[in-house]
Amino acid sequence: MNRIGISSFTLDKLTQFVVQCGQPAFRAKQLFSWLHEKRVTEFSAMTNLPKAFVQQLEQQCKIETLRPVRRQCAKDGTVKYLFALSDGNCIETVLMRYSYGNSVCVSTQVGCRMGCRFCASTQGGRVRNLTAGEIAGEIYAVMADTGERVSHIVLMGIGEPLDNFDNVMDFLSIISCPQGVNIGMRNISLSTCGLVPMIEKLAQKKLGLTLSISLHALAKLIDGMGAHVNLIPINPVDGSPYSAADSANVKRFQNTLLALGVNATVRRRLGTEISAACGQLRREASKEGTPGDGIVRQN
Ligand code: SF4
Repeated sequence: MNRIGISSFTLDKLTQFVVQCGQPAFRAKQLFSWLHEKRVTEFSAMTNLPKAFVQQLEQQCKIETLRPVRRQCAKDGTVKYLFALSDGNCIETVLMRYSYGNSVCVSTQVGCRMGCRFCASTQGGRVRNLTAGEIAGEIYAVMADTGERVSHIVLMGIGEPLDNFDNVMDFLSIISCPQGVNIGMRNISLSTCGLVPMIEKLAQKKLGLTLSISLHALAKLIDGMGAHVNLIPINPVDGSPYSAADSANVKRFQNTLLALGVNATVRRRLGTEISAACGQLRREASKEGTPGDGIVRQN
């Protein structure tokens, strides 16, 4: 029997599930708190739930957890993780430490089908979407590893978040819920390569998060929008036609934008010595054939 991934349920969905199980609705808040605030990984640890309900959960449900496979630390405090999912696929997550708090860059898919030519994540295509519980699990696994709080989230790892729209919306609901880790939308940034119909769908949700749009040519398109451009120098990737960004060229490009009246900064490069660009660690591990690091295709 396929077990239900209960950590992917928003509080509303969990309430429906709990009531269907014949339990009072208030049990949903208790269960949600065990899963997303206390972050236990066994139903038997949920001591304020009735024993019969715990047994039912054990039989029907699973808690999605991630297993750390690799961990690389840079001198600037950036940590890059390779996590194994329960089906053997691997994804990457990056912890970045800033003066204002810890920010985690999460993956939203195994692989990506968007085809950006500079990116290692797209070279094997999209394997599957991550569930909401798996995306949240990236943050919980980083918190468990470091013992530190995470205050900011960037959806900019492997995958195109808007190509996994429903699961990403559930993830945002879970991660911002006061009964869980309660990270506010103003501290969440979603990055997209520009799926316009999905951007419109996202706008209708009125979530109050930051939207970052990845552009590869610039100034006329955003003229008059009041947009901020953050230039991200390329990290070299095998098999990509692009080489490492020359800092003089980056500066020249920034000056061109500034001269055209576009507000532009260059992103601080964190963790360059640990392959911190999206998809590189997963690709390296899969090339080496490290046990458990494989890419498992879905038919
Ligand atoms: S940059 Fe992002 S959207 Fe483009 S291929 Fe890589 S993961 Fe996908």
